[in-house]
Amino acid sequence: MSIYTPDLYVSKITKVTPELLQRHHLRGLILDIDNTLTHHNSQQVGQDVLDWIQQMRAQGIALTIVSNNNRPRVTPFAAKLGMDFVANGCKPLPFGMKKAVARLQLPKEQIAVIGDQIYTDIVGGNAAGLFTILVEPFEQENGWFFALKRRLEAHHLRHYHRSKEELE
Ligand SMILES: [Mg+2]
Repeated sequence: MSIYTPDLYVSKITKVTPELLQRHHLRGLILDIDNTLTHHNSQQVGQDVLDWIQQMRAQGIALTIVSNNNRPRVTPFAAKLGMDFVANGCKPLPFGMKKAVARLQLPKEQIAVIGDQIYTDIVGGNAAGLFTILVEPFEQENGWFFALKRRLEAHHLRHYHRSKEELE
């Protein structure tokens, strides 16, 4: 499988159910923040996401955060959710992911990365030997760079659709 291909692709993080995780023998999650848990740079969290986090914890799923955003953005957000975090995670480079894996104290095969970006979250997770789950972003970023990036991502997702069955 290509390093650009997620193991799963879902419309939003709340579609990741305990049953789904169980099916893939996953017991820990490394979460992206921006456009995965909430809107870009927002400190607000939707009730559906809060309920999802509670549901995961009730099932004994370990949760931690790796964000490429900076400490002033990540620290209060992670504190609100009561999670450990790595800020300035440099995804797709391995440093942040490795730190998070060590914190979760689980074998790599039991950990999934959840994020909205192929070139950071998915490539970083695949390169670290983790299970990868791509979510659709809360909102599309503007500007020519992001337009180009989304087109390239769409190319990789066509490959995904051919090779995997999409969930909802
Ligand atoms: Mg993101």
